[in-house]
Amino acid sequence: MYQRTDALVLKSFDLREADQILTIFSRELGKIPVVAKGVKKPQSTLRGLVQPFCYSHFFMTRSGEMYLITQGRINEFFGNIREDLEKTLQAVYILELLDKSTVERDPNPPLLDLALQVLHYMNGNPASSIYLRLFEVKLLGLVGFAPMLNRCCNCRQTDNLSYFSPGGGGALCGDCASTVGGKRVMPATLAALRTLQQSGLKIIPRMRLSSAVLEQMEKVMEDYLELYLEKKLNLKEVMKTLKKP
Ligand SMILES: [Zn+2]
Repeated sequence: MYQRTDALVLKSFDLREADQILTIFSRELGKIPVVAKGVKKPQSTLRGLVQPFCYSHFFMTRSGEMYLITQGRINEFFGNIREDLEKTLQAVYILELLDKSTVERDPNPPLLDLALQVLHYMNGNPASSIYLRLFEVKLLGLVGFAPMLNRCCNCRQTDNLSYFSPGGGGALCGDCASTVGGKRVMPATLAALRTLQQSGLKIIPRMRLSSAVLEQMEKVMEDYLELYLEKKLNLKEVMKTLKKP
């Protein structure tokens, strides 16, 4: 049985001899494992298609539960990202987050499109952590865990939002924080995350955020993602280690 699909390669492992097993996030089939036979041979035509940061069109055959890639072509290659270490780590983090927030065989084309848009934008612009925050907050919405950022997640009022509670599901007002708990955050942090949640990538060049706000946004999203995805994000730790002087 033949199958065609457009997909991002999330990760790959060497299999016996020249073969690799890849995890791809495909438009039609969602996240699936696929085998790329002979891909490590120098003359393999699949080599270009299965490299990291490549969005490819794959022709596959099915053998039992497994798909085999037979041919393909590159749709878009985000090659500039690989010229920059910071951008490379950020893009790998995006792929890791895609992997950890999805289950196999559950297609989510809007989520694939979000990842492609963010990678495309990163490929043509200087490195900035703001792309990651936009990706995180929009991904959470697309997998059904959008944080409530425009009103208190306990009493629903829209004023006096100055706390955040991952367990409560988002922002908290000062009144509720004294009973429910939650960490104090700057209103500017919540406002910036709200803007990213509601807008597209085009808003990013117009956002002026202090480093304190950017740092707090990262922490807020990290706590929230860890709770809702129930997984430690390994690459986050690597990125933090690299940032240390
Ligand atoms: Zn409240």
